[in-house]
Amino acid sequence: MSTRNTGLRLKVLGTRGSMATNREDQAIFGTATSCYMVRAGEETVFLDAGNGLLTAPVDFPRPPHILLSHLHLDHLLGLGMYPRLAKKGLETTIHVPVPRGKDPAKLLERVYSPPFWPVSLASYAGDVRILPLSFPFQIGEVTVEGIPGNHPGNSFIIKLSWRGKSIVYASDYEYEETSFLRLIKFAEDADLVLYDGQYTSDELDDHRGFGHSTAEHALELLDRCRARFMWLIHHDPQRSDEELQAMAARLNRKDVYFTREGDEIVL
Ligand SMILES: [Zn+2]
Ligand SMILES: [Zn+2]
Repeated sequence: MSTRNTGLRLKVLGTRGSMATNREDQAIFGTATSCYMVRAGEETVFLDAGNGLLTAPVDFPRPPHILLSHLHLDHLLGLGMYPRLAKKGLETTIHVPVPRGKDPAKLLERVYSPPFWPVSLASYAGDVRILPLSFPFQIGEVTVEGIPGNHPGNSFIIKLSWRGKSIVYASDYEYEETSFLRLIKFAEDADLVLYDGQYTSDELDDHRGFGHSTAEHALELLDRCRARFMWLIHHDPQRSDEELQAMAARLNRKDVYFTREGDEIVL
């Protein structure tokens, strides 16, 4: 019997934070920015569209949906050169967080139009649908929920649930009490939590208000929400493989994992 369509599956296409890099000493954890491909039966959902999206497949059983947590450039970087968007007859839906009443296509066009980019995404040869991101909604059997986080670009924390399994995506989140309590409840008993671990505690002192968290906050979240797996994401662009491995060794917790580009998990 085929197991291809069983389980909620996630593949990490990029987990570098803030800026794409190109360094040999980052080959293990990867250099592409935020993009996570989630497969649930025949559905495909991308969490963010950093340049990790360039390594995504083009063909899927059903048209994929790309959810943007917020509009910082590291989360949009891959959209312009994702080959699927330029293929005639292929439908892709992009869900864009916008203030109520604003046009999501217009907002994306602020980046993807001249003089910053040759043409708008809506004019690509593929069938590119641009919708406002508004929670909750369904993509087939996948339930998509979201709560506000705490980040200068108003990043949303997103939960995908499918057949009793769930993934919580908390990228670009800075620890702050009220939103953290909300996040604990939102992530309760999740199978996998992806959590922003960009800074060390020392670095955080110099980066208050930048919108990112630490591995220690991830530990606290894990202990209180009792998720099955906790993966740290959005690694600082200056962080080498050696430094990330040293951070993991210092933390010394088997249940907290420093995510690498190319990782896959079946829940
Ligand atoms: Zn980011
Ligand atoms: Zn951001």
